[in-house]
Amino acid sequence: MDFSLTEEHLMTERMVQNFTQKEILPVIKEYDRKQEPIPFALQRLGELGILGICIPVRYGGQGMDFISLGLACEGLEAADTSLRVAMSVHVGLCALTLLQWGSEEQKQKYLVPLASGQKLGCGVFTEPGMGSDVASMSTSAKRDGDFYILNGEKMWISLASKADYAMVTVRTNPGAARPSNRLSTFIVDLNMPGITRGDIHGKLGVRAGSTGWINFQDARVPVENRIGEEGEGFKITMSAFDHGRYTVASGAAGIVRAALEASVRYAKERTSFGKPIAEHQLIQEKIARMSQDYEIARLLYLRAGWLKNQGVRNTLETSFAKKFATEASFRAADDAIQIHGAYGYSDEYDVERYLRNARGAIIYEGSSEIQTLIQAGYALGERQEKPLRCEMPAYDPDYWQS
Ligand SMILES: Cc1cc2nc3c(=O)[nH]c(=O)nc-3n(C[C@H](O)[C@H](O)[C@H](O)COP(=O)(O)OP(=O)(O)OC[C@H]3O[C@@H](n4cnc5c(N)ncnc54)[C@H](O)[C@@H]3O)c2cc1C
Repeated sequence: MDFSLTEEHLMTERMVQNFTQKEILPVIKEYDRKQEPIPFALQRLGELGILGICIPVRYGGQGMDFISLGLACEGLEAADTSLRVAMSVHVGLCALTLLQWGSEEQKQKYLVPLASGQKLGCGVFTEPGMGSDVASMSTSAKRDGDFYILNGEKMWISLASKADYAMVTVRTNPGAARPSNRLSTFIVDLNMPGITRGDIHGKLGVRAGSTGWINFQDARVPVENRIGEEGEGFKITMSAFDHGRYTVASGAAGIVRAALEASVRYAKERTSFGKPIAEHQLIQEKIARMSQDYEIARLLYLRAGWLKNQGVRNTLETSFAKKFATEASFRAADDAIQIHGAYGYSDEYDVERYLRNARGAIIYEGSSEIQTLIQAGYALGERQEKPLRCEMPAYDPDYWQS
């Protein structure tokens, strides 16, 4: 067993750290307060190749592996969750799902501009009346010759108003006996007629991010935009979550790290009862827990990333990583606020932003309750990996980098 990172991995960490320190950290507080995205952030992620980091070079990406993706997400979310959310939906839900399930023509047409950062992608599943129970979605697509006609509303969609392309799952076969066979997935150009979209305001966290709604009214999507077969939408959506959850898990490890670093800094400076608060054992207990949680969160996501590199299905391992890291990040941010005392309660320090940002990830990409059900299902033998028609291949540098 080899726990060391390669020079390429270390380079990714350094590159992300340079970017966030120079370009994001000086302005994040201002945009989080204004509740507006940093205007240049997504463009810079594209220019730096981060939006296509683990996509093969032949499809416009950087050809790096899944560990590099995880390290990039950790570094980005250590600065601000809005950056990692862009990775989760653009890379995780959209680009990697296209790489796994798309036809060669779809990859050339949509994946190349996504991976090279010319276009932005998102993942569109949740509806006003449905989130966890994916098979019950009601947005519909009816076949009409060479087109599908989409009708319905999607909600809580990250980058809804910013993205160019969307991986969209809808109901195509309402009569299918199994609810999970009723769905199909499409790659949709969001600028086509019949689609309107907008932002949701008043969110607790990810205030420098964009979350919104998308309405489909007789939107005519060509048949050639269907990903996979009709009725495969549930499986494709679950694959998308396997990719997306990995980015959420690795990103959340970044919040734990950021909360730990802020707490160590503050605890050494702040004094009470004649000594730095770092010397009080009850403060040390919180710092030790953050430090331990960071190690566990990182090991769990690195293992999931390693499995992805091997081309081994990793729904369970990714679920462990996602649930642990997101809950640990909220705990770490909460402890960090406590260590900062009253200052932690104001936005003079970053820790209150970490807490607000950490909360959402316990809900999205499969809530903690849904992760618990997944984990119990495997433990009880009620759930096993079934082979998919399209598996994500193992990471092969010769293929990915040529
Ligand atoms: C900031 C943010 C960004 C998001 N981005 C996206 C995005 O890009 N794309 C997208 O499609 N969606 C997105 N979502 C939506 C997100 O995926 C859903 O909110 C999530 O799937 C939960 O669905 P819900 O909110 O409808 O809750 P519900 O499914 O209605 O669940 C409500 C509560 O009941 C619990 N629950 C549900 N079923 C069970 C069960 N069987 N057993 C026990 N408890 C259960 C849930 O865990 C939750 O606590 C985003 C959400 C947020 C907050």
